[in-house]
Amino acid sequence: MKILLVLLCITLFVALVSSATPASVIIVGAGMSGISAAKQLQEAGIYDYLILEATDRIGGRIHKTQFGGHTVEKGANWLHGVGGPEKNPMFEIAKRINLKNYYSDFSNISLNTYKQEGGKYSKEEVEAALNKTESNEEFGTEFAEKLSANKDVDDDMSLLAAERLNNMEPKTALERMIDFYSFDGEQAESPRITSLKHVLPRPEYTLYGEGEYFVADERGFESIVHEYAKIALAYKNGGVIDARLYYNKVVTEIEYSDTGVTLKTEDGRVFQAKTAIISPSVGVLQSNLIKFKPELPLWKRRAIDEFSLGIYTKIFLKFPRRFWPTGPGTEFFFYVHQRRGYYAIWQQLDNEYPGSNIMFVTVADQESIRIEQQPDSKTKAEAMEVLRKIFGKNIPDATDIMIPRWNSDRFYKGTFSNWPAGYTEEKHNHLRAPIGSLYFTGEHTHAQLFGYADGAYFAGAETANDVISCLKRKVCKGNINMNITEHAFEN
Ligand SMILES: Cc1cc2nc3c(=O)[nH]c(=O)nc-3n(C[C@H](O)[C@H](O)[C@H](O)COP(=O)(O)OP(=O)(O)OC[C@H]3O[C@@H](n4cnc5c(N)ncnc54)[C@H](O)[C@@H]3O)c2cc1C
Repeated sequence: MKILLVLLCITLFVALVSSATPASVIIVGAGMSGISAAKQLQEAGIYDYLILEATDRIGGRIHKTQFGGHTVEKGANWLHGVGGPEKNPMFEIAKRINLKNYYSDFSNISLNTYKQEGGKYSKEEVEAALNKTESNEEFGTEFAEKLSANKDVDDDMSLLAAERLNNMEPKTALERMIDFYSFDGEQAESPRITSLKHVLPRPEYTLYGEGEYFVADERGFESIVHEYAKIALAYKNGGVIDARLYYNKVVTEIEYSDTGVTLKTEDGRVFQAKTAIISPSVGVLQSNLIKFKPELPLWKRRAIDEFSLGIYTKIFLKFPRRFWPTGPGTEFFFYVHQRRGYYAIWQQLDNEYPGSNIMFVTVADQESIRIEQQPDSKTKAEAMEVLRKIFGKNIPDATDIMIPRWNSDRFYKGTFSNWPAGYTEEKHNHLRAPIGSLYFTGEHTHAQLFGYADGAYFAGAETANDVISCLKRKVCKGNINMNITEHAFEN
């Protein structure tokens, strides 16, 4: 019996060790950046890579789901583009596959803004508040450009400080709601936290143009990621069937040196490679889900821990009938409450999915955290109370509600990164700097387009290029950077 047990243990051990698959590269995570890295490796002729993905799907924070009989997006929803000097690569794919997207017309905010206790603000009142925010954006943009022009000093301030400098700090509940819509609605954190220099002028607008296009297609925003995956990986019947992509592999330990990496997953598997590309969100890196051996150096841990991951939640509601106006200029409506961002930004989907009777409300930051922690029934009651203030007491209750919980999910811990005021460019270089055979990617590592899906796409490709250069030409950024940064922190 004892011998049998020993044999069993040996067999198990051999099975585990034999699954240690030598590869050139292991990519951790199959979100946009991980898939983009795989595509880049494939196109450079490096085929012996593996992807270890914690969940049972690709796409990460680009994630469709079924709600009320239609596809809605729990994660990324808008494509930025059209009319700017550059083409958004994701928009180009969307065009090629005829992914349905709709121009978001925010211009009617002055006609659709409701008071805390009901009734609308006058057009003039809302326009006055909008003018204040526009002035802050203009002033902030000019000031940010001045700060960026001075290359000798890495000077920065918060968006809030810039508003104060402009003598236009939002004061009333209405002004605060417009401020929330303009800044928290984009960065998922308040102007008190957010860097002026790295958020204004908005890189998405300067590169691609100011139009924002809302994806509403039964195939989901993630079909763009699938298009990239098809270039890199064997693909059939709407899914990746490539043996190099491992689903449900939660990486929990990464042992690294200058010459190689060993990764362990939660289910006891071991994988080995010359290099690894780490793509999970900065929130996952902050959470210590992955243990690095040796521990990451202090300069790296500081760069990770001092960056910010915002939380932005779209709460979807389904109704038995429509009680809101439809047609041009009615897509969005806004609610003003003393509490910043309290069920503030509403969008109805009648244009995209006629007759669906679906709408959603966007909350962010502390409200997102609060709502994630309470039962759905409580959130539904709060949302219904707001809707009754707006549309009257006789509207029907929602029949269904869907609340994504990005912050509580250990594979994300939030939605998209935000550059905090005072976080230096040097620190951001540290955030993306490789260490020996370990390379770091993900939307948070892109210096301009952090936060966005296309930022993840470019980050993945850039990181893969560093790896390709190291593997093929023996020009290894990892070692160069490590020497520089280690030296800087030795003193
Ligand atoms: C609610 C929301 C709204 C958004 N709106 C927009 C928008 O309108 N427009 C836009 O451009 N962008 C938007 N974004 C941002 C965009 O979705 C992200 O920037 C982008 O998808 C991030 O891609 P990534 O590859 O960097 O990270 P991720 O998508 O997070 O990919 C990382 C992958 O790693 C996996 N993983 C995590 N931990 C482990 C582990 N230990 N082991 C193995 N695998 C692991 C994860 O499951 C994931 O698949 C939004 C995001 C959210 C959540």
